[in-house]
Amino acid sequence: MSIRSGIGWDSHRLAPGRPLILGGVTLEHDRGLDGHSDADVLAHALTDALLGAAGLDDIGAHFPDTDPAFAGADSLVLLREAVARARAAGFAPTFADTTVLMERPKLGPHRAAIRANLTEALGAPVNVKASTGEGIGFVGREEGVAALAVVTVHNV
Ligand code: MG
Repeated sequence: MSIRSGIGWDSHRLAPGRPLILGGVTLEHDRGLDGHSDADVLAHALTDALLGAAGLDDIGAHFPDTDPAFAGADSLVLLREAVARARAAGFAPTFADTTVLMERPKLGPHRAAIRANLTEALGAPVNVKASTGEGIGFVGREEGVAALAVVTVHNV
């Protein structure tokens, strides 16, 4: 069996009047993530990590943010499509680990729901960790939210 891994990183700006969607779960907050799609930064990092593991370039190459078809797109739909493209290239997800970098709100109460959504979309277990910016950097100043992911795949 061939085992490969890929990394993913994404960040989005926090803006008023936008929903805060992480792993397909909408969190109650006074601001949300700005972007062309639903700006689900965690789903984007995970998708990029998967595409990387499969050697399929990156999320922008597959789902360009200049394409009106992806305006307001549900990022879990894009993740499922990336899984299909990875499988077509001969790779299926084995496991994923992720970290959300966010000052507020607390991720903990939503962790189980986020894990369930991402695990279903990826078709493999997804772990979700949370970290804050300790008041420094764009995360700490609550200007944005970032996410990291590592995905392991095996050949099929
Ligand atoms: Mg993004």
